[in-house]
Amino acid sequence: MVPEEGDETLRQAAEQIAAAASGRVAFREPLAPFTSFRVGGPAGVLVEPKDERDLEVAGSVVSRLGLDILILGRGSNVLIGDDGFPGVVIRMGKGFEWIRRAGDDGVEAGGGANLPQVANWARRRSLAGMEFSVAIPATVGGGVAMNAGAHGSSLSDVLESARVCHLAEGRTEEIAAAGLSMTYRKTAVGPGSLVCSARFRLTPGDPAEIAARMEKYRVHRTRTQPAEAPNAGSTFRNPTGSSAGALIEASGLKGHRIGGAEVSPKHANFFFARPGAKAQDVFDLMVFVQSEVEKKHGVRLLPEVRIIGFFDNADELKTTS
Ligand SMILES: Cc1cc2nc3c(=O)[nH]c(=O)nc-3n(C[C@H](O)[C@H](O)[C@H](O)COP(=O)(O)OP(=O)(O)OC[C@H]3O[C@@H](n4cnc5c(N)ncnc54)[C@H](O)[C@@H]3O)c2cc1C
Repeated sequence: MVPEEGDETLRQAAEQIAAAASGRVAFREPLAPFTSFRVGGPAGVLVEPKDERDLEVAGSVVSRLGLDILILGRGSNVLIGDDGFPGVVIRMGKGFEWIRRAGDDGVEAGGGANLPQVANWARRRSLAGMEFSVAIPATVGGGVAMNAGAHGSSLSDVLESARVCHLAEGRTEEIAAAGLSMTYRKTAVGPGSLVCSARFRLTPGDPAEIAARMEKYRVHRTRTQPAEAPNAGSTFRNPTGSSAGALIEASGLKGHRIGGAEVSPKHANFFFARPGAKAQDVFDLMVFVQSEVEKKHGVRLLPEVRIIGFFDNADELKTTS
């Protein structure tokens, strides 16, 4: 449960945001259905903004009441604790799902747009460059924040600029890709800053060839990635020059279980939350796997999944090398 002592402030935040915003606002809304792991507790307050004005409203209430803020896209790279998030969660969706052309060979999309839909939109207009993202279950905002990538490419290869809203300051700016310091699964977008939209620079291409590349990537994924239980894709980042999955497999951990959490028997860097799993089970499995791989191979795996909220033994999961 979200801590009781915070409830009054959170209730006030919900009321104040609801009074001025046009999007949906809910008090203590369960977050599990909004994440790919399908575990975790409620948001203190959930806001589904309709437009940038709603973001301003939420930002000003949050800074006035001194609350924490979390931005959620499709929730495909987060593990939220069983107690939930004791602050305001801004979930990007309707209102930020638009896609439009930007110049002759560009596309611009709202932060809540579905990344595979953007890739397909570009394909239909004979624009190449986003094929790699056709099966990444991300929003545009979450994809940019994580510098999502696959098949040797990532969004930093095609991003031209992003419109970023600094919520507490009530300020929005257009930042060129070079100013976002995008590296492997990392972008310099701070926790209180939100990607409202992004522009991608693509290249003219043959739609049949674009479609063929997309199909090849889809087939590869179906062959190599398990999908039979809720997961968040790669749990750990690949260490330089090696593969997290191979190290976990070589440590004999495929199929290892803690409570309802399990290392996938098919792809060792995918962790499942089986029916009845707690977020704490997944967290404990991450701690165990990290420690076993370090003992056996001398390599410390660092989480790719973003850990949010409270966990017992939180400091046992190492997040720096
Ligand atoms: C089956 C499966 C396959 C996957 N395959 C891949 C893959 O091939 N490549 C890959 O890179 N990832 C992959 N992922 C992980 C995940 O899809 C990516 O990390 C993706 O970028 C997360 O996007 P999201 O919208 O779900 O963000 P969320 O999971 O909701 O959030 C992730 C982080 O981004 C922040 N964030 C979200 N939206 C915004 C915003 N608008 N502005 C600022 N910050 C924001 C959140 O606060 C959080 O810190 C996979 C996941 C699954 C479940």
